[in-house]
Amino acid sequence: MTEQKAPEQGTISIHTENIFPIIKKWLYSEKEIFLRELISNAVDAIHKLQHVNLVEGLRLADEYAVDVMVDAEAGTLTVKDNGIGMTADEIRRYINQVAFSSAEEFIEKFKDIDDKNQIIGHFGLGFYSSFMVASRVEIKSLSYQEGAVGTHWSCDGTTNYELSEIDMQERGTEVILHFDKDEREFLETVKIREVLTRYCNFLPIPIRLGGDIVNDQNPLWTKTPGEVTDDEYVAFYRKLYPMADEPLFWIHLNIDFPFNLKGILYFPKLTTEFDLTRSYIKLFCNQVFVSDNCTELIPEFLTPLQGCLDAPDLPLNISRSYLQNDPQVRKIQEVISGRVAGKLLDLAKDDRADFAKVWETIHTFVKFGMMRDDKFNEKLKDNVIYALAGSDGWSTLPEYLERATDKHANKVYYTTNETAQATYLKLFKSQGLEALVLDAPIDSHFIQFLEMGNSELTFARVDADVTENLLEQDSSGSLVDGEEGKSRDQRIQELFEKELEKNEGISVRVESLKDPSVPAMVLFAEQSRRFQEMTRTFGQNDALSTGEHTLLINAASPVVRHALEFQTAGRAEDAALLIEQVYDLAMLNCQVFDRERMERFLERSNQLLGRIEPEVKGQ
Ligand code: ADP
Repeated sequence: MTEQKAPEQGTISIHTENIFPIIKKWLYSEKEIFLRELISNAVDAIHKLQHVNLVEGLRLADEYAVDVMVDAEAGTLTVKDNGIGMTADEIRRYINQVAFSSAEEFIEKFKDIDDKNQIIGHFGLGFYSSFMVASRVEIKSLSYQEGAVGTHWSCDGTTNYELSEIDMQERGTEVILHFDKDEREFLETVKIREVLTRYCNFLPIPIRLGGDIVNDQNPLWTKTPGEVTDDEYVAFYRKLYPMADEPLFWIHLNIDFPFNLKGILYFPKLTTEFDLTRSYIKLFCNQVFVSDNCTELIPEFLTPLQGCLDAPDLPLNISRSYLQNDPQVRKIQEVISGRVAGKLLDLAKDDRADFAKVWETIHTFVKFGMMRDDKFNEKLKDNVIYALAGSDGWSTLPEYLERATDKHANKVYYTTNETAQATYLKLFKSQGLEALVLDAPIDSHFIQFLEMGNSELTFARVDADVTENLLEQDSSGSLVDGEEGKSRDQRIQELFEKELEKNEGISVRVESLKDPSVPAMVLFAEQSRRFQEMTRTFGQNDALSTGEHTLLINAASPVVRHALEFQTAGRAEDAALLIEQVYDLAMLNCQVFDRERMERFLERSNQLLGRIEPEVKGQ
């Protein structure tokens, strides 16, 4: 042992006298980050030495590692590295002065921020965060420099420190924490392992706890995308989220310019428990875990994304509201939405059936994203797929419009409910017309958005009107046929109008449909229906009212003709029976009947059934 000089005693130069109580109180909620800070310093010290080795052609350690050791009996936790080390002078400079002033600056800067937890995770106090948990901290360090002597520093949580020379053989730094009595939990290996797994799981230098390496030094995102297999991506996802289903797809970011951004983002299979108000992405800074709720880095419409982002250039030491306006954060968002769009395009080009499976989970987010983000929309708009009513098929809008050119150019027919609109869909099908299924809550907004983006395009729900394609071209029904100078269709119209006039909001229109099997349909004009739906969401309309509607009477239907014949033959009651029944049947699809109306409908149905007489009777 070399002869020891008397220890140097000094005062740490700070302005805020009571910095230690502040550190303790302030960071209480996440005090375990002290370990992240110490290990980050240790890893940095190793990186610095590796750098010196490179520059000076030295070879100072074959195996670099950080060791974490718990001594429950002594009540200490030690973090030891074989990095660059510090001389006494460097300790004076980096620990007594720099470290403290940065801790001070930190406290100054954030003293007015209410939600401290917002920033704690993003910004550490560095070395001094160890005083959140320790009553005394020692440093033993031996610099890599030739002829360096070991230095011992010690501080008991006041502004006084002690510095002395010690005998040290191994280059590097040991930080020894003596715990307060009530911080004994950090003397449990299980607890330390848990904290290390949380913050240090992907650090690039081996971290050992009791001799065992606890971290994965080459996490998948640090690899070149071309070298990683699908199985590896899925396995990595499993490691991050052990309880989750297989992801739907993923993107691997590996950007060096104009900023550094690496990471793998997964689009998960969504379950009902999924909380869309928070982000599931783990944010790293040079493989050091920073936060797992960094909503501001992801465009809002991609909130479900999971995975890891390593953004070493991000100013993590600032508050969230600042991050939201940071140009770099905006660029990161753009990169992510651009890459997700690219991935979706790839998927869309591959197997349509496979894409449809993914699409069913993600379409709401994609549509929302298209409405929010022009670039995203530009990239994807021709690849959005829509289910075709009454089939398993899917179609893009350009494909649909192409097929519709001759029959209804620039007009898109859609259904919001295949069951309720079955009558109309049947008519469409019988005439070889296609309708898209747009039945999600976002679709009404999306339709407006698509129409706004293309002034030639209009969307009409299948029950909005009857297209020319469904109407019989034969005009005999509109010919005046003698009696009272009226045509057949006029007489049908008057008859139905008179019979149904007590119903609110109804207007009657007579047409001959190509398909005679449907006596009548209710039509809701597209624009007024949309308006009604809008107001309905504000709770102004009760569910039973249908509002303005047109009852389209099919003059080609035998039932309608019978009604007219009954009337002409003076059997007004029978005509009324048929007319009411035809109207109710048409309404049944689109309205919930109140009790009274339902009773009348059932009674009338039974009455009509009673009229079916077996032919055998008269024999
Ligand atoms: P930061 O790491 O943000 O610079 P810290 O307070 O954690 O702030 O550390 C201050 C300085 O002390 C570091 O920049 C580094 O120069 C030095 N230091 C801390 N820990 C070590 C270590 N284990 N080995 C070598 N130098 C260290």
